[in-house]
Amino acid sequence: MIPQVGNGKGGDEVSYFCKNRRIWSLLTALLVASVLLLSGLFIVTHGKHDCTGEDCRVCSEIKVCVSTIRILSEAVGTGAAVVFVYIAAHKLVFSYIAGFFLCPASLVSLKIRLDN
Ligand SMILES: [Zn+2]
Repeated sequence: MIPQVGNGKGGDEVSYFCKNRRIWSLLTALLVASVLLLSGLFIVTHGKHDCTGEDCRVCSEIKVCVSTIRILSEAVGTGAAVVFVYIAAHKLVFSYIAGFFLCPASLVSLKIRLDN
């Protein structure tokens, strides 16, 4: 049972996940890393085996591991690219907007005389 944290938008489950976002992110990262590590470890340890032919269970499991590694790598790479583009766009927009609040300076507004 999920404990009730508050009555925010999206229901109690969404509020629970928002409150514990760091923990869920860490758990997800650990899960993805362990799947990648264990799939790679299985491929390395069972690369050379006594193959029985077309219906070899080890070969089919190796194919599943390779597919899993490929899918997770593509997902992680895509996620990293999206985060990079988001951060770059945010900084670019923020620096552009910050330029609107700069006070224009001129010699007249600074009351500098040029009669030397
Ligand atoms: Zn085999």
